[in-house]
Amino acid sequence: MKLRAVKGTFDILPEDQRLRRHVLSTAERVLEHAGVLELTPPIFEHTEVFTKSVGASSDLVVQHEMYTFTDRGERSLTLRPEFTAGVLRAYIENGLIVWPTPVKLWSYGPIFRAENPQRGRFRQFHQVNCEFLGLDTPLLDAEAIALLYTVLSACGLEGLTVRLGSVGDPEDAAAYNAYLRRELGARQSELSETSRERLRLNPMRVLDSKDAGDQAVIATLKRPLDFLNPDARAHFEGVQAFLTTWGIPFEVDDSIVRGLDYYRRTAFEIHAAGIGAQSALCGGGRYDGLVAALGGPETPGVGWAFGLERVLDALREAGVRAPEAARPALFLVPMDDEAVAEVAALAFRLRQNLTVLHAYAKRNLGKGFKEAERAGARFAGLRGARERERGVYALKDLATGEQLELPEGELAGFLHERLERPLASSL
Ligand code: AMP
Repeated sequence: MKLRAVKGTFDILPEDQRLRRHVLSTAERVLEHAGVLELTPPIFEHTEVFTKSVGASSDLVVQHEMYTFTDRGERSLTLRPEFTAGVLRAYIENGLIVWPTPVKLWSYGPIFRAENPQRGRFRQFHQVNCEFLGLDTPLLDAEAIALLYTVLSACGLEGLTVRLGSVGDPEDAAAYNAYLRRELGARQSELSETSRERLRLNPMRVLDSKDAGDQAVIATLKRPLDFLNPDARAHFEGVQAFLTTWGIPFEVDDSIVRGLDYYRRTAFEIHAAGIGAQSALCGGGRYDGLVAALGGPETPGVGWAFGLERVLDALREAGVRAPEAARPALFLVPMDDEAVAEVAALAFRLRQNLTVLHAYAKRNLGKGFKEAERAGARFAGLRGARERERGVYALKDLATGEQLELPEGELAGFLHERLERPLASSL
């Protein structure tokens, strides 16, 4: 049997790393400049951390999308299917609750969901996640959304629009769900099987359906926004006012409901064109009440997560390339057997500050230069009997063709000086 990666998982090959790092370093820069601190929870938690938070009617539970296993101590553990629950568990457990508010935390790492794999939908994928805790002001929702928008724009995505909605407070959601049960209960025969199931468990989720028959029914329904109480409405308008002032483009989407049960009031998504059916780059919203549900004190919060692979897909569609990798400064070519150990030792010394590669067996001149060029090195350094006798290396600038000889001790200084100057001025 050939060994293969598990269905829905993938290897991240060296050529994929630079664009990933570009997104991650952009996120880190934008978020840290806004005082968002990095918190990394473990990859697995006690299962109840997730069952208590995501809600009994979420797809993760209903469709058995969690990777849950029993360990040798008969404990039920689960690979994280989202960050929020673990981050909030850590926030409570480590006493971050006493920090000055708002407490702003970000995380990055793998997420596991036993879903049906397709483009943009994997069983192991990666999220950048943010949680903003301790304040219920719409200013915090707006800051969260604006930072997300800034991260994705700074990565190079253009034409992004935030879809903003509100699911109201629990009593608004309850009233809306009751309305849906009444309206849709009478029209069950027109609904798909998934929507009939959702109607039973969490009627609001019917609005998420992409089924054409369902959509025809949904078009005749009132929306969550029609059920907002005055405070929830004022909050929703407050978020919009901040975003408008800051020039963050958004559209009010009156059918946004989120797949997890814990959301209150603000809910938002950012979608990208051209990456297929799974177009949501990011989802988020407010979740006042969740910290208390996990055993902490009543603490409001708002957060989001974007899927790294979906953002990468959108960046590739848009033709955004990773910044050029730094080229190796030097490729050392041993011209005889004795020089193999010599160039390896020199490489070790120079690597403190420079990228230095070498061949692992003796090479003739032509082959050595070719190898140095293929490695993308700026300089080739030759070492043979002639150079050994005089304690030097023969250098060739592969960009200009210039050749010179340098004593070993002067190499580091020379390379630094040359590489700091732009090519034109070193001619
Ligand atoms: P959610 O926690 O479901 O709101 O997901 C947040 C974001 O994670 C989504 O907007 C996607 O970008 C990404 N995401 C969710 N599920 C998957 C998956 N199965 N594969 C890849 N990315 C995903």
